[in-house]
Amino acid sequence: MSFRVLILGGTAEGRVLSERLASDARYDALISFAGRTERLERPRENHRIGGFGGAEGLAAFVRASGFHALVDATHAFAERISANAAVAARLTRTPLVRIERAAWPKLSGDRWTIVANVNEAPAAIGDAPRRVFLTIGRTAIDAFAVAPQHRYWIRTVDPIEPPKALPRAEVIAARGPFSLSDEMALLEGHRIEILVSKNSGTPATYAKIEAARALGLPVVMVQRPALPEVTQVGDVEGVLSWLEKLRAELGTPSS
Ligand code: NAP
Repeated sequence: MSFRVLILGGTAEGRVLSERLASDARYDALISFAGRTERLERPRENHRIGGFGGAEGLAAFVRASGFHALVDATHAFAERISANAAVAARLTRTPLVRIERAAWPKLSGDRWTIVANVNEAPAAIGDAPRRVFLTIGRTAIDAFAVAPQHRYWIRTVDPIEPPKALPRAEVIAARGPFSLSDEMALLEGHRIEILVSKNSGTPATYAKIEAARALGLPVVMVQRPALPEVTQVGDVEGVLSWLEKLRAELGTPSS
């Protein structure tokens, strides 16, 4: 019987892990997606889409499917699902590991104003009308309703209607990875004066930070939320080693 692993997806690492485990007969993995992205690229591997119904629902799912291990490969800003994973792991006594990708470091030439959360970002842009590039995801846009005086270019994965609360907003629907030359062209083309970003640490979206540095533009950088203290690894290789150790400790499952 193979080792059953539930991967909570939402990042590139989750997809890579799912592929790696699918090609290893010792594992039987399922990757789960929230289903928020309308243009979700469905993987070839075993997957499911949709919420579980809170921590209790996730615990029931883990129990019913007999998973031996849980991997939280969700985005650094997806607070609720990471909290639910920690509770469900405790309720079901299932080992849990989170992939904690390193945050982007502030480098020489970076002009960052670091804020604790998205709600603090509008004040950091300042009162005077500016040309703002918003790359904080669809669900965080409402926080900018308090600053309708700016002109916004909002990048989202799904094409969305420009928010009514922001009369001077345009939406750019695009999925990474983005190249440095394209990001420079975008910032220069729209004469962007300031960029707002979450510090996701995602390599595929780092070019905008490099482009802002190269052009001397300020960035409002939203810090990550504090997540539950669980076992953490930095990357997919770390999860694979953790799983190997776990299998050795638990022995090959018999049911
Ligand atoms: P969230 O606030 O932490 O989660 C909201 C709810 O969505 C959860 O309570 C859960 O519903 C469901 N959910 C989240 N991830 C799931 C998964 N992998 N499988 C099944 N259900 C899941 O998350 P969010 O910030 O809205 O993000 C939603 C998804 O998009 C996450 O998977 C995240 O990794 C990904 N994402 C988020 C961001 C971001 O900036 N927040 C950026 C890129 C990707 P139930 O309580 O019903 O189980």
